[in-house]
Amino acid sequence: MEGLVMRWRALATLASCRLQLSRTVPSRLHHCAPATGRRLLLSRMFQPQNLREDQVLSLEGRTGELTCKSQRLMLQVGLIHPANPGCYHLLPYTVRAMEKLVRVIDEEMQAIGGQKVNMPSLSSAELWRATNRWDLMGKELLRLRDRHGKEYCLGPTHEEAITALVASQKTLSYKQLPFLLYQVTRKFRDEPRPRFGLLRGREFYMKDMYTFDCSAEAAQQTYSLVCNAYCSLFNRLGLPFVKVQADVGSIGGTMSHEFQLPVHVGEDRLAICPSCSFSANVETLDLSQMNCPMCQGPLSETKGIEVGHTFYLGTKYSSIFNAQFANAHGKPSLAEMGCYGLGVTRILAAAIEVLSTEDCIRWPGLLAPYQVCLIPPKQGSKEEGAAELTESLCDHIVKAVPQLQGEVLLDDRTHLTIGNRLKDANTLGYPFVIIAGKRALEDPSQFEVWCQNTNEVVFLTREGVIELLSSVQVV
Ligand code: ATP
Ligand code: MG
Repeated sequence: MEGLVMRWRALATLASCRLQLSRTVPSRLHHCAPATGRRLLLSRMFQPQNLREDQVLSLEGRTGELTCKSQRLMLQVGLIHPANPGCYHLLPYTVRAMEKLVRVIDEEMQAIGGQKVNMPSLSSAELWRATNRWDLMGKELLRLRDRHGKEYCLGPTHEEAITALVASQKTLSYKQLPFLLYQVTRKFRDEPRPRFGLLRGREFYMKDMYTFDCSAEAAQQTYSLVCNAYCSLFNRLGLPFVKVQADVGSIGGTMSHEFQLPVHVGEDRLAICPSCSFSANVETLDLSQMNCPMCQGPLSETKGIEVGHTFYLGTKYSSIFNAQFANAHGKPSLAEMGCYGLGVTRILAAAIEVLSTEDCIRWPGLLAPYQVCLIPPKQGSKEEGAAELTESLCDHIVKAVPQLQGEVLLDDRTHLTIGNRLKDANTLGYPFVIIAGKRALEDPSQFEVWCQNTNEVVFLTREGVIELLSSVQVV
């Protein structure tokens, strides 16, 4: 809570700095930011828009293929741009959404005692040879040599690095444990078939947490704590998920679960029991008997996108690197570990995949890059007189609803009709689109408000708009 208050203060200070800046040097700002004074102008956004499907396909290059809705939509509206196979430029809207996602993740991880670290992407071959994963990982590991001939990989995950880091602390006591250390960084995997846009990249963002406990029992409790934090995260994002029993794969350990978003483009097959709580990735089941191991009823199958993965590791890594602490009797004892991944860029694309229609992006409300888009009338139209009303509404919103500072965009492309701009706004999925049409010239002015996440269109006065927007949650 104290953290929240502090962040709020920091934000408020930042907001007032911005205000001052725009008052004192408006002309310089004019040339370097998509904002004039305090207003964010859509015409200044770096965002290729309205690409046709064939143009999008040619962006993906010779080897590219459009394999799913989120990939197509994200390319079409300029959320991502292909760089190399499986590697994308994340454009401004996506970066805003991702920063919001990271803030929600930070809140959830820190609520259970998580401490944020940041480890290098370059990881030395020595560490990976120690666990035998230098060989086990095969071609998926991106390897390189420095000028001295020393071998490295670009980290696909960081069990080796974090365990070596904790092992380097020679005076740890059981009183300090558990440690829940996490980071949000780029990961590199030379996937045999990168596809589905951000869903399966060769370079992507992951949140990876590693936990160190003083007993197996304590580690199991930490495991449940992290799983609950993952459930809370997906609930806050409004994403329907299932937690399934999973295979431990090359990471190893003794217990594992995946967090899956059920959707037909998913690459994982899930078996779910409609009568009891059992659910599993089919990789973990004996396929000859597709009956529920708990209640013996028939299992139903569905596809899913894996957005999170948890592993109970025991002492598999701590024993190799000697990650020890002094126990209650003063004796050295190996840390019991867990590791917990969330696919950050994959969650963004998977959310778009699950929530959007074929033509229109829909975001989890908390992650929408901008909450409000205002559309003033077309230049030279009968309603042109409402242009100033829209600008003053834009300024009033950020004053009256401080959490919307930086969240309100003005679509100043007034050479376009309202209809054309509304179509773009619909495609991009701003939670609130506010139009100044004919009724804005009535007394009192009435603005047309499209509430995208509830599919409602309402006419509201200035006060009505403020009342509606006051309840918007922003991270
Ligand atoms: P997959 O089975 O999909 O290849 P994984 O089981 O190898 O994934 P983990 O090692 O469990 O992946 O990584 C943790 C999380 O990172 C995954 O749950 C997923 O959300 C994300 N992730 C893994 N690989 C990719 C990738 N190539 N592109 C984007 N996100 C990924
Ligand atoms: Mg996994």
